[in-house]
Amino acid sequence: MADIFSELEGLGISQDTDKEIFESNAKNAEVKKTKTLPKAKQLTPEQILFTAKMTCPVCKKEVEFRAVKSGKARLMKTELDLRPIYTILDPSMYEVVCCNNCGYAALKKDFTSLSPKKIDIIKKKVSPNYLGRNYPDIYSYDNAIERYKLALYDAMITDAKDGEKAYLCLRIAWLYRGSYESDENLSPEKKNDLVSNEKVFLAHALEGFKQAHYKEGFPIAGMDEVTLKYLIGELCRRQGNYEEASRWISEVIVAKGSNRRLKDKAIEVKELIKNSKNNRQNEQTDVDEK
Ligand SMILES: [Zn+2]
Repeated sequence: MADIFSELEGLGISQDTDKEIFESNAKNAEVKKTKTLPKAKQLTPEQILFTAKMTCPVCKKEVEFRAVKSGKARLMKTELDLRPIYTILDPSMYEVVCCNNCGYAALKKDFTSLSPKKIDIIKKKVSPNYLGRNYPDIYSYDNAIERYKLALYDAMITDAKDGEKAYLCLRIAWLYRGSYESDENLSPEKKNDLVSNEKVFLAHALEGFKQAHYKEGFPIAGMDEVTLKYLIGELCRRQGNYEEASRWISEVIVAKGSNRRLKDKAIEVKELIKNSKNNRQNEQTDVDEK
């Protein structure tokens, strides 16, 4: 468990916690359309980023962070696990606000809504050890992953909802994917490391979303029930749990009132599951015949 936070040692955060990301009931739970973009002059990341400010709810200091100007990066497509792909840069890299004074970090939309009890926990359990880091104006994937992991760590320490923690895990997995996809010069070993980290965080996201589905009211991490079922199904498929993936995805296909785009994706996932099952059976037959 603690291995996933090794980067945080550089921030002074000890990995020595007996917390798990998802504590309770672990056992009991069980657009690919590319838009044609109008030809506009290509902006650079520097041109669409700016420095924004918020007041930290824990230490009351002013926190500066880099943010993306709205509407500048355009959505090109959405991958099957709902990861959005944008032009110019990956805006999700800039969605965690991190207070360099006290070590409190959270998604920008959640940053100021922290209960007095949770403020107290951050003050006692995070701030005393936190060393801080000055991030560059343009974040590397490593910078973004570190910020998200601090947000996840803080969410664990303060017992945030499983849905919130699962969403952070999903975002971290996407950042690992972005990290190896954006670097053609990676050594095979480094790429394998990043792929296996992506898998670890997709597995955590799946576990947390399943628990949230059984325990929490909707919306969960901004998703309605049918979208969450779809995502759980696709994450099961990515883990090779084809039977379970089929059950979730079938529910999406027959759901009334879900949007066409999601149903189309569900049909695509169903087809992939069918192919993967056939391949697995063929491999099994080959082994039996040998
Ligand atoms: Zn602070």
